[in-house]
Amino acid sequence: MNAIGAVDIGGTKIAAGIVDDSGRVLACRQAPTQTAGPWPQALTLIATMLREAARDADANIAGIGIGSTGPLDPLTGKFQNLDTIPQWSGASPADDLAREFNVSVAMENDADAGALGEATWGAGRNKSRLIYVTVGTGIGGGIILDGHLYRGVDGAHPEVAHQVIDVNGPPCSCGLRGCWEALACGPGMVKWMASHPEYKGDPGLTARRIYEHAMAGDPLAARAVERENFYLGIGLANLVNLFTPDAVILGGSVMKSAGVFLNDIRKVMQQGCRFVPLDKVDLSLASLGDDANLIGAARVWHHRFAQPQ
Ligand SMILES: [Zn+2]
Repeated sequence: MNAIGAVDIGGTKIAAGIVDDSGRVLACRQAPTQTAGPWPQALTLIATMLREAARDADANIAGIGIGSTGPLDPLTGKFQNLDTIPQWSGASPADDLAREFNVSVAMENDADAGALGEATWGAGRNKSRLIYVTVGTGIGGGIILDGHLYRGVDGAHPEVAHQVIDVNGPPCSCGLRGCWEALACGPGMVKWMASHPEYKGDPGLTARRIYEHAMAGDPLAARAVERENFYLGIGLANLVNLFTPDAVILGGSVMKSAGVFLNDIRKVMQQGCRFVPLDKVDLSLASLGDDANLIGAARVWHHRFAQPQ
């Protein structure tokens, strides 16, 4: 059987798998990014994982899609200057895997890949204007219009994470202060709580634990969650004001916990969306689960090479 090889390259792990034409992961392998070494060695690792997954799934790889941490150039399939994995900067995963497997290969930013997956096989099905936002160790976003990925000038991926929410806010990796990512990503939430004078100390504090503490009645954690709902709501309200999409789909590790507060987030959005029909915008959680990135990576191939025009 023919299927698509999918590669998800993240700052902490690399996954490679086989995805069928209905978006099901038939087999997969994963490895920590840190141990992958320089690019030629990482390429060998990815190729091996793909071949093993193909053997497990008893499938023939007909094409390969990659979703990766960036920045990257989706049109050439090359990494640009990677902050997270500097030694891979300038490498060409798309060309290298195309040569290795003798198939067509496409690469997109991981949030764009996730958006494509959700738009076709997940919570965004049948929505023509869709914004996908992933909140975890960072914030990512992808915009889909009528089944196609929105690209900016020179193929650029819009950086929704770097909309400034509070000019006096915490410093951001981009050089500005108070970006959405600096305020609302998981580490931003942890930083706020850990630096609060009333904080009692929890050495293994993570966003997920803050949610657990809040559910267990910890008042400071409850305030951290309220703060998070506020910043998520403001950032999403900005996106809805700018794009008036049919749907906003929310994924990522923080959203797994934040999902139960979707109504509170929507209330914040209502305050900021008076002039657009927010009540017609579907706000929902991503539905592809832990395999979302891999499924999205497979969709990257379909989007580039197999879409009916
Ligand atoms: Zn920023």
